[in-house]
Amino acid sequence: MKSPALAALAGMSLLASPVTAQGGSADPAFSADRFKATVGFLADDLLEGRDTGSPGHAIAAAYVASRFAELGLKPAGDNGSFLQQVTLQQTDPGANPAMVTVSGSGLAEQSWKHATDVLVGLNGNEPKLDISAALVFVGYGIANKRLGLNDYAGLDVKGKIVVTLRGFPKGLPSEEAAHLSATKRQVAQDHGAIGLVSIGTILSMKTRPWERMLGSADKPDFSWVGADGKAFDEAPKIRITATLNEPVAQAIFAGAPQTLAAIRALADKTGGKPKGFALKTRIRIQSESLTRRVTSPNVVALLPGSDPMLKNEYVVLSGHLDHIGINSSRPGDPPGKDRINNGALDNAAGVATMLEVARAAASAADRPRRSIIFLASTGEEKGLLGADYYARHPSVPIGAIVGNVDLDMPLLLYPFTDVTAFGADHSTLGPIVSQAVTPMGVKLSPDPMPQESIFVRSDHYMFVKQGVPAVFLATGFANGGEAAWEKFLGPKGAYHHPDDDMNQTIDWQQGARFSEANYRIMRAMADADTVPLWYAKDFFGDIFAPRAAKAPRP
Ligand SMILES: [Zn+2]
Repeated sequence: MKSPALAALAGMSLLASPVTAQGGSADPAFSADRFKATVGFLADDLLEGRDTGSPGHAIAAAYVASRFAELGLKPAGDNGSFLQQVTLQQTDPGANPAMVTVSGSGLAEQSWKHATDVLVGLNGNEPKLDISAALVFVGYGIANKRLGLNDYAGLDVKGKIVVTLRGFPKGLPSEEAAHLSATKRQVAQDHGAIGLVSIGTILSMKTRPWERMLGSADKPDFSWVGADGKAFDEAPKIRITATLNEPVAQAIFAGAPQTLAAIRALADKTGGKPKGFALKTRIRIQSESLTRRVTSPNVVALLPGSDPMLKNEYVVLSGHLDHIGINSSRPGDPPGKDRINNGALDNAAGVATMLEVARAAASAADRPRRSIIFLASTGEEKGLLGADYYARHPSVPIGAIVGNVDLDMPLLLYPFTDVTAFGADHSTLGPIVSQAVTPMGVKLSPDPMPQESIFVRSDHYMFVKQGVPAVFLATGFANGGEAAWEKFLGPKGAYHHPDDDMNQTIDWQQGARFSEANYRIMRAMADADTVPLWYAKDFFGDIFAPRAAKAPRP
């Protein structure tokens, strides 16, 4: 899972009839032991946290390719191999730390260095950047006709830097909100702005405290490089972004017609939409960057469908293989401190799920009717880059990809009895998923943590953006899930931390159950007479697949 920019029926599966994929073999279709073995290899210290472009990730890719070959799957990468090489541009901070200076409104000029009370984004296309501009507060910075939102109404932001609140208005449907929140740069670009700086709301600062955000201060920025040799950017006219902590936020609001406190109080109310206005201050942002190119593979395999007609349609099962590598050492670290982010749950567990599903599908007496593409993606933690690259450079025509199931960070720490299916409300995948998991005694629940914007934080979102109905299951809040999720994502949690390793109390039987759930969903998508369809007038279907056939919303 990418960082933002995620019935008391325990043991029910033992009673529910298992899916038999082995035609009478005693070998279970979904094995807790095999699941554990896969995770154990991928999360070993030897792989050094599988960072994109690292030898550890390359070893993981070779391992997954070997497992695909063992299952008799066909290579679907470059030139008859299982690997699809993706060129990535890595942008690092330059020699001089970035600087933010605020002036105007009778203030004494104040400056902050990167990683103190400001985090300045990197621009890979401008190695030395020095921008000074007027500031316009634009509320949450969201504009969407269908939802009746336009934070830019009546504001002139041309050539200016916009100031947005982080997050989105309370009460919006969570997946739409996550999408709107993730596309603020594009909206700012559409309105003519040249930069975007963000400030916290009370809720966003609680969800992601500044100390935690500072953890990404020395991280490089990545984008994939296209055939034109350019680093891909959906909002290239937004030349600079920055995230501001309290003292800087207070400084830019000096002399403003409303106080930040009043704006924040309104922002946290349900439906609260603070209105924008021109600020009386200016900001200057200086930033230097260095770029280099790295190559890292997606691993792609194909299981041809059994139906002579339907085999030309494809269901993509994706899960990211990369993780975040090794933490840099910091002054004062105790000797021997564990710095390897093993990523056992994020996302060795998702890849293990994929391999269990692939094994069950490849060895089933009745093979799936449609073809299945298995994609172990790279660069997910860097911004869903491998999946974005694949969805824009697929090994089969994108129009022939009828659906995507994404596997990311299943929290296998308790016997889950419910799941959240991100994306399921927008297409016929909703009823497909619900019917598929019901025989396991698993129930579908609404998103219990909308503030985490999980819908846009994993690879399936990149398929949605290419018009493909997609779904991504997270284990739910019931039966101990709430406490487990809060602990995992919380300040002392294992999420994106060296503690996400094999020393966690992982319930491997849940890995087998999670594999079975996703196998059932994949089969339902692959075997039905009709392909998954977006619902008529759906938010995402209308944006990304305007001409596709639609199903009436039940
Ligand atoms: Zn992650």
